[in-house]
Order: sequence, then structure tokens, then C-alpha cells
Amino acid sequence: MRLASLDGRAAIVSDLGAIDVNTASGGAVTADLDELVWGYSELRPQLDQLLDAGWQPYEIAHLTQPLLRPPQVFAIGLNYRAHAEESGMAIPSMPATFTKFPASISGPFDPIPLSGPTVDWEAELVVVIGRRCAHVPASDAWAHVAGLTIGQDISDRTTQFAAGSQFSLGKSYRGYGPIGPWITTVDELAAPDDLAIGCRVNGVDKQVARTSDMVFGVSELVAQLSAIVDLLPGDLIFTGTPAGIGATRQPAEFLGVGDVVETWIEGLGSIRNQVVASS
Ligand code: ZN
Repeated sequence: MRLASLDGRAAIVSDLGAIDVNTASGGAVTADLDELVWGYSELRPQLDQLLDAGWQPYEIAHLTQPLLRPPQVFAIGLNYRAHAEESGMAIPSMPATFTKFPASISGPFDPIPLSGPTVDWEAELVVVIGRRCAHVPASDAWAHVAGLTIGQDISDRTTQFAAGSQFSLGKSYRGYGPIGPWITTVDELAAPDDLAIGCRVNGVDKQVARTSDMVFGVSELVAQLSAIVDLLPGDLIFTGTPAGIGATRQPAEFLGVGDVVETWIEGLGSIRNQVVASS
């Protein structure tokens, strides 16, 4: 099942169209996708019943930021082997975790206001947590995940490294965390640990990899993070980016005004964001 925010209202979407869950349920199911995800485990049987309500045509450009109020946003650095190598860094022994402050999260087709001359792309698989949890064993981790979505961990490399290894502000400029276009529930994916992922800039492939190359896969990330801090429903985990970022290219490449960043993941769709001048 794909859960989306269609013009700000919770919807189920498919290739057939969209179902407004609040309208189709006669008001029984919330129109707020954040609230729906917080209660996803309990609401799923009700959502399944709405699939008979009739699909309405919709335009993909009307899909908006799926989660407006993620309580916590974790992001993982150096989590693909080939990316750690291109960065000249050792593969970490525990997840290299920072945050994208929640207000930096934006929608699947929102603009990226450019913060400076060293802004870079990072295609990422994003995990959406479905229930509060602590000390989750890796073997049980997927049961705590509501779904997966696509994210861009847009990074201002100058700000990122300006204060030693405190990355969070350089990753949190306005509009630097587009996600979407929808949340795909885990049951939709035959092999959620092995998805093709990539990023194109102005139509040119920059990153192409598989999520099975992660150092810490989704199960291990949920286990290791939840061993330290409770994970909350609606939390996001940006799981790290594969090789092919701009900063490590020879010569280095960075984003400029007018550039179009497309990010795609097998089975999850794609998002598209244009870089614009910061106002
Ligand atoms: Zn990243």
C-alpha cells in the first residue's frame, strides 16, 4: 500500500488513482497522514477495507510532503562501502549518526533553495518508523517499520565540515530534506533489503547502487538506534548515500540554480526537485 499526502490530505494511491481515506471512511480515519502513520499498525485493517471505495484520478504533482511532523530524524553517514571508500574514510564500527532537523524536511517536488557554492546531492532510502520501540532485536526490526520512502540528504559541504564532525546544520538548510512521493508499506516489497537506488542531475546518472551494499542494513540500524534511544512513530531514518556524490568527483561537482535533482528507488517511485535561488 502507498500512503500519500494529496494536497495535504491522507490518501492511498496506486496506478489506478487515489482514495481520500477520510472521505472514504466517512470521517472514521484521520485526514492527517502523520496521525495515520502514528496509528498505522492498528489502522491497517480499516485501510484495507477502503480499497473498494473507488479510485479517483489524481496528478502526481499534487502529492505533498508525506510527513509534516516527524518527531526525530536520524541520518547515517558512510553507510555504503563504496561511498566510505570514495570519501577516504574508514567504515564505521557503529552507525555514524547525525540529525537533519525536522523543519528541513520538504516535499517530493519542492524546490531546493541554494545555500552556497558547495551544495551536493545524496540519494537515500528513508525508513518510516510505525510504532514506539526500544531494544528491538534486528530479527524483529521490520515489524516496527511502517514503510519506506525516498529522500535526498542535500548537503552544504562547507557548513557540514565547518564545525568539525558536527554535520547536522550543514544538512538542515530549508528545503534540504525532500521526501516522498509516498510511503510504501513494507508488505509491498518482495526484497526490502535489496533495492536499486539512484540519483540523476539534469538527466545524467550520478549515483546507481543497491541498498544491499549498506554497511548497516535497515534491521541493524533499527536495532542499534533503538538500543540507545526510543524510536517514535513517524520517526525518519535517512539510511546513508551510495557512492557518486559531487564532492568526491574529479573535479568536484556541486549544484547550481536551475539544476534538477531526480532521486529514484526500485519499487518506491521517484522524487524531483529543482534548485532555486535562495530568497
Ligand atoms: Zn546522507
